[in-house]
Amino acid sequence: MNSTCQQTMEFQAEIKQLLDIVINSLYTDREIFLRELISNAADALEKLRYIKLSNDKIIDKDLPLEISIELDEEENKLTIFDTGIGMTREELVENLGTIAHSGSKAFLRHLAESGGKDINLIGQFGVGFYSAFMVAKKVVLVTRSYQPEAEGCRWVSEGTGSFTVSEEKELHRGTKITLYLKDDAKEFSKAENIKRIIKQYSSFVPFPIKVNGEKVNTIQAIWTKSKNEVTEEQYEEFYKYIANSYDKPLFRMHFTTDAPLSIKALLFVPNDNYERFGFGRMEPGVNLYCKKVLIQQQSEDILPQWLRFVRGVVDSDELPLNISRENMQDSALVSKIRRVITKRFVKFLNEQAQKEPEKYREFWEKFSMFIKEGAAADYTYRDELIKLLRFESSKTDPGKLTSLKEYVERMKDDQKAIYYINGPSRKAIESGPYLEVFRQKDIEVLYTQEAVDDYILSHLGEFEGKKLISADQENLELTDDLQKNKETQPEEKIKALSEWLKKTLGDKVSEVKVSKRLVDSPAVIISPGHTSISMERMMQLVNKDLNKISPKILEINPGHIIIKRLADLIESDEGLAKMAAEQIFDNALLSAGLVIDPRDMIHRMYQILEKALEK
Ligand code: ADP
Ligand code: MG
Repeated sequence: MNSTCQQTMEFQAEIKQLLDIVINSLYTDREIFLRELISNAADALEKLRYIKLSNDKIIDKDLPLEISIELDEEENKLTIFDTGIGMTREELVENLGTIAHSGSKAFLRHLAESGGKDINLIGQFGVGFYSAFMVAKKVVLVTRSYQPEAEGCRWVSEGTGSFTVSEEKELHRGTKITLYLKDDAKEFSKAENIKRIIKQYSSFVPFPIKVNGEKVNTIQAIWTKSKNEVTEEQYEEFYKYIANSYDKPLFRMHFTTDAPLSIKALLFVPNDNYERFGFGRMEPGVNLYCKKVLIQQQSEDILPQWLRFVRGVVDSDELPLNISRENMQDSALVSKIRRVITKRFVKFLNEQAQKEPEKYREFWEKFSMFIKEGAAADYTYRDELIKLLRFESSKTDPGKLTSLKEYVERMKDDQKAIYYINGPSRKAIESGPYLEVFRQKDIEVLYTQEAVDDYILSHLGEFEGKKLISADQENLELTDDLQKNKETQPEEKIKALSEWLKKTLGDKVSEVKVSKRLVDSPAVIISPGHTSISMERMMQLVNKDLNKISPKILEINPGHIIIKRLADLIESDEGLAKMAAEQIFDNALLSAGLVIDPRDMIHRMYQILEKALEK
């Protein structure tokens, strides 16, 4: 061998860390290394099959597309090779060692958080290759790219810090990986074990897998079969294969149609959503096929972005086999397929919500962020997506959820609108002043706990002909006034108090008026117009300027003892009355969840206390 071409390189830092963990692992599910290597081989073969459709200049054009595994018990060795696209020297160095994958970092974090238990998820983080070091003390990989000018090369590593790359002559196209097994991993040089593992994890690999020359998998495109021809176990195994996953899917939709297009789809909702734990944006997970030939892996185009959590396969006879990635994006046909499948899938979720409410609830807990993303941003499917939304409400038990449809069914005949209110928690919402009138009138209010909910509902405007109204907005149009507040004080006195309050609070209030919504609180603030208080809260978060609150409407409750006494106090001690008025206003801001500058308030509180303690 020409030693001048030999290079020793350091693994990228996070990969080093990852290898450290992998090498020292004593995990019981070490066998998943085989699934990872087979999945890489299958990927390389799929890519080659695709390139072959439009490219003639391929090395060893007639080599059969397959995966072979050779076992050597005596030498304690396992060799796996494929006739896929192979790698050039540059690709090799990049793919296996020097480039930091976002996945390696995320995986390290996940391992740390799960107490190191979940190493079998390694493939989902895009670093599956390194799982070879769970069972091997040394890995030798030789590869030759399909491109005619490419040279073969060899990659060797013991997984500790560095690897070497050198030239390798006279290779056929593809990749061959030899694992020198650890002494405690002898089981992986035995054919019966390897066959069992392949059956368990890799039955659906769409290329022949041979073990010591004997073909062991049955290649099945189960999505092209009818539902009654496929068993539960097959579905489950297929999911594990396609999602590179270890657990069972939450939902499965197997769907075939001939009109308006011929489409076969098998889609799964995974058991969990790692994006919600902050592991970065999920890659789309649906592969696009035409008559069982893979056209595009993890297609960006076949489902909308907000369905990126879905795993599975879409197969359409109508797709041209040699469609390019660029054409895919603006192909009218692809968007047609996307619309059909998306509509069908959202309908499927609505059906599941009816049929299996408990399971749907679990789905909602884990995946609602995607449904909300769609409802907020994608008008094409909005009407259907709205039906999937779930909220707690004043009529649900804590932790139980309801839909807009159920809300409407519970509405009383004279109730005109659907009400909702935002707050950080059920408790915060229920202890605030805005619900008082609704409680008194026995009107249900939905609790939205995320800003995006309010965004969606306010943009939607109405549902089934009923207006959607934020319960903290100015004009509520509730049927009649609250009995309790009426004629509690002479009208002139209230008028004088209101005017005095307006004068005293100055620019902070645009208007002071008698509230129709208060029962137990002395006062509440409202935003003029259609802005809800929750919108104000959001704006305050963005602005970060506490003094930048726009003028508010102060609604007072004339029946409340504090308001009554305040009216009298103006005569006897205007100084104290002013302080009380400021304090009432600040309390109302705090009840609204708005932030105030505490320094003024604390100072004022001391002054009030001083007065109170005088007596
Ligand atoms: P992933 O498969 O998720 O990309 P891996 O760590 O399993 O992550 O593999 C890293 C990369 O190495 C692959 O994306 C691929 O480019 C390359 N690779 C691995 N095995 C093979 C192979 N048998 N043939 C060609 N390329 C391969
Ligand atoms: Mg892989």
